[in-house]
Amino acid sequence: MSFSADVKKEIVSREVPKSCCAVAAAYAVACFGKYFDEKGTVLHTEHEVVAKYAQKVMQRAGIKGEIHVKARESKDVYEFSVKDKEQVDKLLELFERKPEDVSVRINGDIFKCDHCASAFIAAAFLCAGTMTNPEREYNLEFLSNRHGLIKDLASLLEGREISMGCVRRKGSNVLYIKSSEQIEDLLTIMGATNASLEIMNLKVYKDIRNKANRIANCETANIDKTVTANVNTASAIDYLRENDAFDLLPDTLKETALMLEENPDASLRSLAQKFTPPISKSGLSTRLKRLEQIADKMKERARNG
Ligand SMILES: [Zn+2]
Repeated sequence: MSFSADVKKEIVSREVPKSCCAVAAAYAVACFGKYFDEKGTVLHTEHEVVAKYAQKVMQRAGIKGEIHVKARESKDVYEFSVKDKEQVDKLLELFERKPEDVSVRINGDIFKCDHCASAFIAAAFLCAGTMTNPEREYNLEFLSNRHGLIKDLASLLEGREISMGCVRRKGSNVLYIKSSEQIEDLLTIMGATNASLEIMNLKVYKDIRNKANRIANCETANIDKTVTANVNTASAIDYLRENDAFDLLPDTLKETALMLEENPDASLRSLAQKFTPPISKSGLSTRLKRLEQIADKMKERARNG
């Protein structure tokens, strides 16, 4: 199931406790339906739970609607509708919608308590919202071809400190947010607290993974440095051997050279630990440099004849 579907499932799983809030949710169903006029209202959704939720909140608002399943090629569509004349009249009266109203705007008088607007926003998301899987990208959207409605929804959200961007896409008005913190806040407002927590956890996980990657890259870089340093010393030792100078080296340097030859990839620290008794890193570093210096001096002498 998509993340969007999970969020919707979570929203519908929460009971709308007060009847004023159920009316506000029913109002969102009408506003974000295909039409909302003297013919009634129709909502198309691919989620059966959303159609059922629409029917339930309408019922609590005193309006009876029906659900029909429409078989489509790709996916079944669930249609919730209020078309019966008597029910349509009740709908228009309850939501103060007049025949002369052309555009659909949000009527703030419908909201009676502090939670009504949140119930409206949550239902709007069920009807007209989508959300991208946060593992891919942070993006939550509301879509409607009604410009005024989308503008009103934006200011309703603004009042709850959620700033949405607005664009037009293929004739639709799209309200969107891309900030993960804002998406978390909005999900919480809509009652999808689990989804909100999931995003927070995901962020922590991503953060840890990034840090782990940084550390791993850093370690690889250090290993590269060690190997290069060892290669330089190793070629110096080879030179000393080839020119019969190895046996003439002081014992400490001979011991060091043998130690490096046995452990060509060891870091300075682990190589220093292998001596009995262990020597210091700087002590080891001095010995390795000394080997290189002796080889360099011999090369110089050979060049000068
Ligand atoms: Zn309320």
